[in-house]
Parts: sequence; C-alpha cells; structure tokens
Amino acid sequence: MHKEDQALIFELSKRGRVGYSLPEMDVPEVDVSELLPEGYLRAEEAELPEVSELDIMRHYTALSKRNHGVDSGFYPLGSCTMKYNPKINENVARFNGFAHIHPLQDESSVQGALELMYDLQEHLIEITGMDEVTLQPAAGAHGEWTGLMMIRAYHEANGDTKRTKVIVPDSAHGTNPASATVAGFETVTVKSNEHGLVDLEDLRNVVGEDTAALMLTNPNTLGLFEENIVEMAEIVHGAGGKLYYDGANLNAVLSKARPGDMGFDVVHLNLHKTFTGPHGGGGPGSGPVGVKEDLIPFLPKPVVTKQGDEYVLDYNRPHSIGRVKPYYGNFGINVRAYTYIRSMGPDGLKAVTEYAVLNANYMMRRLAPFYDLPFDRHCKHEFVLSGKRQKKLGVRTLDIAKRLLDFGYHPPTIYFPLNVEECIMIEPTETESKETLDAFCDAMIQIAKEAEENPEIVQEAPHSTVVGRLDETTAARKPILRYQKL
Ligand SMILES: *Cc1c(COP(=O)(O)O)cnc(C)c1O
Repeated sequence: MHKEDQALIFELSKRGRVGYSLPEMDVPEVDVSELLPEGYLRAEEAELPEVSELDIMRHYTALSKRNHGVDSGFYPLGSCTMKYNPKINENVARFNGFAHIHPLQDESSVQGALELMYDLQEHLIEITGMDEVTLQPAAGAHGEWTGLMMIRAYHEANGDTKRTKVIVPDSAHGTNPASATVAGFETVTVKSNEHGLVDLEDLRNVVGEDTAALMLTNPNTLGLFEENIVEMAEIVHGAGGKLYYDGANLNAVLSKARPGDMGFDVVHLNLHKTFTGPHGGGGPGSGPVGVKEDLIPFLPKPVVTKQGDEYVLDYNRPHSIGRVKPYYGNFGINVRAYTYIRSMGPDGLKAVTEYAVLNANYMMRRLAPFYDLPFDRHCKHEFVLSGKRQKKLGVRTLDIAKRLLDFGYHPPTIYFPLNVEECIMIEPTETESKETLDAFCDAMIQIAKEAEENPEIVQEAPHSTVVGRLDETTAARKPILRYQKL
C-alpha cells in the first residue's frame, strides 16, 4: 500500500490545487456579505481540502477497497441474511417509468407503479399465508412497530385496554423488545429450554389477561424450528393475545411453510434480506407487514387496491393507525423485491430454502468437531457454535472473529443470542458455492488449531488489516468531530 493511500483527504490537500474547472464568469461578481445578514456569515474560511481530480479518484478508490460487502467477499452474519443482490434488480429499478416518477403524480399517470405494488402485495400474501399486506414500513424494526400498533388498535377497538404486555423469547432479535417498548408495551421474557426452543411451561406461566402479543421468529435466531408452534399459538390465542411473526429472515421457510398457516396474525418481512434488496449501507430497506382478516381495518393508509381495472390509493380507512411512511414507502426496494420474486418463480424460491438449509447444515457438521455445538440437531438457515472450548485456552470468540479478518472474511455475528456462551452465529445463505463454504470452514478450523498451538496469533489478531484491533465502542461513544469549532 502506498503512503498516500493511508493519508486523510485533508493531509493530501495543497493550497490552490483544484479538481474542477469552471467556464469564465460572464455575470457580475456578487459580494455575499451584501446579501446575507451578518449573523449568518462565516467568521473564518471553511477548511476544505484542495486536491486534483486524479488525487481524489485515487483517494476514494483506495477507501472503497477497504470496504467489505457481499460483492467483495463472504459475509456470514447470523440473523441478518446477507445474500447476493442480483444485478437484474438494479436494472429494473432504474427503468425510467419507475425511477423518474414523482410521488405526487396523479394516480392515473402512475398505474404501472401501483400495479407493481399491488402485485407485490399479492405475492407476499401468497408467500406468508396472510390476508392483506402493507408495503409502507421502511425497515424490519419499523414493520415490527407498525404491526404492534395495529395489535394495540385491535385490542383497544375491542375495549380490551388491560393488554399491556408483549412476550418475547430470550433468543429474540434485539429489535423485538425495542419495538414493543416504543409501541408503548412492557416486555416480558419467556425462557428457552435445553433444546433451544421456547419453554412451553414458562410460556403458560407468563401468558395472561394482560398479554397483547407474543413475538416470535420461526425458525428462531438459533436457526431452530419451533416445532411446538401450533401449541404455542393455542396458548396465546386462548388467552386472547395475538401472534407476531418476525419474518426478517424468511430464507428457511420460503415456499415450504407459511407463518399464516402456523397461526400467526401479523408478520413483517425484510425485503432487504430474504428478497435481495441491498442491505445496510447499500440503501434504504423495506419491511412490509402482513395481517390476518381481523386486523385489516387497522392497516396504515392509504392502502393500494384495485377497483375494476384501475389501481387506486384507498384513504377511506376510518380505523387505520394512519400513515407510517410518506408516499409509496421505499418504492425502489419494492421494485427490486418484485423483480426477484418474478425472476425466481415458485420453484426458484423453493430452491432458495433448500440450499440455504443444506449449506447451513453442511457447515455446521464440518465445524462441529472443532467448536462446541450447543444444540446438536439439524438447523434451518443458520446455526450457532460456542467458543467455550477455545475460551479455556485463553482465546475468546471476539479473538476468533478478529482473526477471521486476516483470512479476508467478514466475521459472523458473535455474542448473540445471549443465551449461548461465547456464541458464534453463522448464516451462509443459499447463494454461496461449496468451494466458498469449504474455504471459510478451513479458516475456522485453522483458527481452532491456532488456539491450541499458538494462541497469541489469535489473541493479537488482526495482523493484515489497515488498522489493528479497534476499541469496540469508543468511536460510537466519543466521535471526534473535526469541525467542532463551527
Ligand atoms: C434484521 C432483523 C430485524 C430488523 O430489521 P431492520 O431492517 O434492520 O430494522 C428484526 N428481526 C430479525 C430477526 C432480523 O434479523
């Protein structure tokens, strides 16, 4: 790496060097101090970097090479499906008719966009087994909150105002208790049993007249299918509560099982996970929510519907919880998901599930001799290992994650779910080849051997990255603001 690749853009700056050229001025020069009130004028010149066009290209190209994304390498995050985003999605999202419409255009002039939204809703209804879907929420957590607000409105419409509690398993994704709190509920935790599934006895104990809903992921965040789901639904429904399905990662059940058939009343999906929208820094998300019949009146408005041959936005929804996102939601991501569903077809979606589950089980079995396997049973789309054995040798799961960086991998999720000691949570997804899975397993196996023979190399990792081991929290807690003086 060249020295300039490490430099900050401010360090590359040389007074008077420019990366632009403007035509000669053909209008009179204006003194801004005559236009702006004094209080709004800068006391000192802005300290902007001055670099040539080539310098700035090299600077950003060097930075981009330090990024890790699904397009640059394997990214096995558990509970956060990071799969390939097919490029045909991008082509379709850029069609003029989709990319250049204005959200305030008259409905009659955006019939194609409304048709796509309506059709996407229909596909998601079919995939989830629900009765109606809204595309408004902008992310998974936003979908959770929207779903819970509908459940709240439902109970209130029945005069049932004592239901203040939402039950979540101890293995739940962190957004579940957070959304329940933001929606005004109190969270109650239900324990997992020794098989990693919700403990039915404990569920019976916590369910009661104050239960608004149970929030569940199935398969759960340990990658295990909650095989008692029908009984759980009976327990919760029997007490008058609703069942909420966190379908952020639907990779394990797509075209095989449906939340609606398992007894769930509300489900959210992450189109930026299962349905191949770009994820995280790659773009805005979309977290559609599906509901069963009795919750339809509470859906956010407007609802995209069809009247005769025309697609319309229906605002006449007196019981609606209201709008949760302006305009059409994150329309571009919906176009990508629609493209994905249509290009895969029903057989393709079924294959997704089969390969996602096969890949996870293959890796779990290859790694099981070298790491502890807390739940020794078939997994679905993801699985958890425990670094307990390595911890006894003085190597923590955090060290293993850091060492993976030296092999060029983004580490998997670690220390989550909380009910597994020294947890390592891996989701390979269906889009990776056997060669990629094997190469990652080889690296994990080598690290397990290093932990026994040469623990320092793991404890002091990473060795080959631009910066060494970073403080995990200081950057977030104490950001350095270069322009504080402004
Ligand atoms: C990612 C995820 C969420 C949250 O989705 P966001 O789009 O990040 O808000 C919720 N639940 C589970 C299980 C997830 O994996």
